[in-house]
Formats: sequence, structure tokens, C-alpha cells
Amino acid sequence: MTTEHHKVIILGSGPAGLTAALYSSRANLAPLVIEGTQPGGQLTITTEVENFPGYPKGVLGPDMMNEFREQVTKFGTLFATGDVTSVDLSKRPFTLHTEGKTFTCDALIIATGAKARLLGLESEMRLMGHGVSACATCDGFFFRDKKVLVVGGGDSAMEEANFLTKFASSVTIVHRREEFRASKIMLDRARNNKRIDFRLNLAVEEILGDAADGGVRAVRVRDTITNEVSEIPTDGIFMAIGHVPNTQVFEGQLEMDSKGYIKTRPGSTYTSVEGVFACGDVQDSIYRQAVTAAGSGCMASIDSERWLEGQHG
Ligand code: NAP
Repeated sequence: MTTEHHKVIILGSGPAGLTAALYSSRANLAPLVIEGTQPGGQLTITTEVENFPGYPKGVLGPDMMNEFREQVTKFGTLFATGDVTSVDLSKRPFTLHTEGKTFTCDALIIATGAKARLLGLESEMRLMGHGVSACATCDGFFFRDKKVLVVGGGDSAMEEANFLTKFASSVTIVHRREEFRASKIMLDRARNNKRIDFRLNLAVEEILGDAADGGVRAVRVRDTITNEVSEIPTDGIFMAIGHVPNTQVFEGQLEMDSKGYIKTRPGSTYTSVEGVFACGDVQDSIYRQAVTAAGSGCMASIDSERWLEGQHG
């Protein structure tokens, strides 16, 4: 097995990781970005990004990430592909293993982001890809002229529902209460879309259907006020109920909050291990925006650069 040493390794290639790479490469640190199975991060599975400053006409998520990548490559960022399967942060240099390769580094920037949360039902896993999805941009196309449900009451649910109206014959947002976490503009847009219905105070209890026989056919829901159980016929169900941070590989080695987000020292990207920095959604359960991820990526690069200087001076 080969071992490769780099001064700075950045895990993740979303807006946080690539902004950290931009700053670190411009500081002549030739960082290595290790990207996993979803290069470019969550923005590569979104549609239009309307709220990243500098794009008055909006930009497609994948296009924006291609531009990030072009920019960092210009300054000498290196890339490697592979899921990091284990890490040792107990001594420096830090060690990271991917399948078939070992990397070591003096400073580590973690920007591994977050992934879609699921309900945790057995039927959800069984029917995943057979009518159950957590990504409208990826799978919406398969629901042309079909009925779909979107579960959730946040911006993701509104965005997915709006997007799905391009394909589906009907889109119903199913939410477990009457209040929404979604921002007013996103909620209003969904409410004003005549092809979206809302069913409120309903919790999804089971997804009904057979993967070998047409997939999802209905969803069993419970009214959260009356407890009444009923079925909603549907061809598909999209989960848009938030995200969980990609931190499993660091468990027991870095301090995390109760939801598994990496804890950083307030106002900085320093983690509980000296020389390890975290930025983007992996340490942010509150803002989770591309622009805040990018901002914290910049902070992580500056923090790590100053920390590295301190090590040698
Ligand atoms: P979120 O704001 O945390 O909303 C998650 C929603 O899912 C909530 O309505 C929650 O219900 C519901 N939920 C959670 N667990 C559930 C369960 N087990 N069963 C049923 N419902 C469940 O997550 P998000 O919508 O993914 O948004 C995350 C962040 O990304 C936010 O900051 C958002 O602004 C941002 N975002 C922005 C855009 C945009 O601006 N274009 C697009 C997407 C996301 P409760 O409310 O009852 O807890």
C-alpha cells in the first residue's frame, strides 16, 4: 500500500472544501482535496441556485461547482478520489486511509458535508429507487405524469416540490405540523404553485408497495392531531426532511454535538484536535448555505495556514 504525504489535506469538494482549497493553494500550500462518491457535494444534486452572491441570473448547482473546481485547479490544488474509510487523529502527522491508499498530512480540513435524512422505515429502504427518493433533481424525470408526495416542511421540501411540478401530474407536500421551517419566499412560491397541494399534520408511518410489482402505490399516514390513520395513493415519495452530517469516520476522535455535527471553537474552525479544522455543513446545523459553507472554508484555510506557520516558527 502506498503512502502519500501532504502539508494540507482537505476532505470534501463542496463549496466549503473548494473554498478552503482556493485559499490554501493561493498560499502555496498545494493542498490535496480528497473527494468521495459525490464530487462537488450537495449542490451537484440541486437545480437552480438563486442565492449565491454574484449570480444575478441564478446558476445551476453543478455548473457552479465546475467553476469552483476550475478556479482552484488554476492555483495548483491536487485532487484524489476515494471514500476515507478510517482516520487516525491521535498523532501527527494525521493518517487517512482510502481503499488502497494511505495519506498523511500536517493539517487536516474536514469539509465532508451532510446527506439527506431518511424516515428510518424498513419500507423506505426496501422501496428506495422503486418510488422512494431523497433527490428530486436526480429522480424527478422518472415521475413524468405521475402522482408524487414530498415529505417535509423546510426549504428543501418546497424546492423539491416546485421542481417536481415540471414532471409530475400532481405534487402533494405532506408535513407533520402546520408551521413551516421554510423561508417565506420558498413557502409562498410553493403555495402559489397551483400544481402543489398541502396535507398538514400527517406523519408518514409506512410506504406501501412492492419493488417487484410497480414499486410505491400508497403511503400510510397518521393524523398527528386526531391519530386517525389513512392511505394516500401515490406513485412516488420524496424525502426532504433535513440532513445528517457525514462524520461517522471521525466518531470518538473529534468532539461532536448530539446530532453528530463536529464542534468548532466559536468564531473559528478549530476542532477539539489541534491541527484539524472543520468547515461547511459538517459543523453547521444552522445556516447550511453554500455561501456560509464557502465563508467557513476560507476561515479553515486561514486558520490552518496560521497554525502551520506557528508549528515551524
Ligand atoms: P430543515 O429546515 O431542517 O427542515 C426539515 C423539515 O423536515 C422540517 O419541516 C421537519 O419538520 C421535517 N422533518 C424532520 N424530520 C422528520 C421526520 N422524521 N418526519 C417528518 N418530518 C420530518 O431542512 P431542509 O429543508 O433540508 O433545509 C436545511 C437548510 O438548507 C435550511 O437552512 C434551508 O434554508 C437550506 N435550504 C435552502 C434552500 C434555498 O434557499 N434554495 C433550499 C434547500 C435548503 P418539523 O418542522 O416539524 O421539525
